[in-house]
Amino acid sequence: MEGKVVIISAPSGAGKTTIVRHLLEKPSLKLSFSISACTRQPRPGEVNGRDYHFLSVDQFKTMIDDGSFLEWEEVYKNNYYGTPKSEVDRIWNSGHNVLFDVDVMGGINLKEKFGEKALALFIMPPSIEVLRQRLEMRGTEPAEKINSRVNKATLEMKFARKFDYTVINDDLTVALNETESLVAAFLK
Ligand code: ADP
Ligand code: 5GP
Repeated sequence: MEGKVVIISAPSGAGKTTIVRHLLEKPSLKLSFSISACTRQPRPGEVNGRDYHFLSVDQFKTMIDDGSFLEWEEVYKNNYYGTPKSEVDRIWNSGHNVLFDVDVMGGINLKEKFGEKALALFIMPPSIEVLRQRLEMRGTEPAEKINSRVNKATLEMKFARKFDYTVINDDLTVALNETESLVAAFLK
């Protein structure tokens, strides 16, 4: 059984996770989160098999060789992230639509694969300065990792036009409402 897919991409710190959680709380959207594989360490509170499948680099590379990923990226040095093909089958077979939270290149690749079945949304921070502040406030990465995420964001923001819509996450309530309306209209 085939459903639809919603792709949420953004530079790290733009508010993707916050927006994804909001969408998952709306039963009428019938969205299920695609659990990616990744090789970074779990953050406090993250659960293996719920937030990510946390793998070693060797395990991840075996999955690449086996052709198990729809797409994968070395998002940061030695930190691999990928969408297992099995996630889409699992979610569509349960009668739900797939929600992807992936980096910008991953979002572009998934949109190309799913075409009209996909709604691709780019979450844009109000500015690079605000993005840095949000990452600092979140406090989940050391300073050098924040720098690498902010540097990458400057490049990623140039790809926003490849997405179906851009949502500016300045006032959170406005961004949540706008995203929910776009997703509801697409899935209707
Ligand atoms: P991402 O998943 O894109 O890395 P998060 O959803 O973790 O981003 O958001 C980064 C940080 O910014 C979090 O601490 C979050 O609570 C905060 N945040 C998200 N949206 C807003 C907003 N509109 N205004 C202020 N803070 C926000
Ligand atoms: P984080 O380490 O903050 O959880 O994620 C870092 C980045 O990797 C985020 O932009 C997130 O969306 C992205 N990401 C998570 N899973 C995947 C995936 O399966 N594929 C790709 N390409 N990016 C992913």
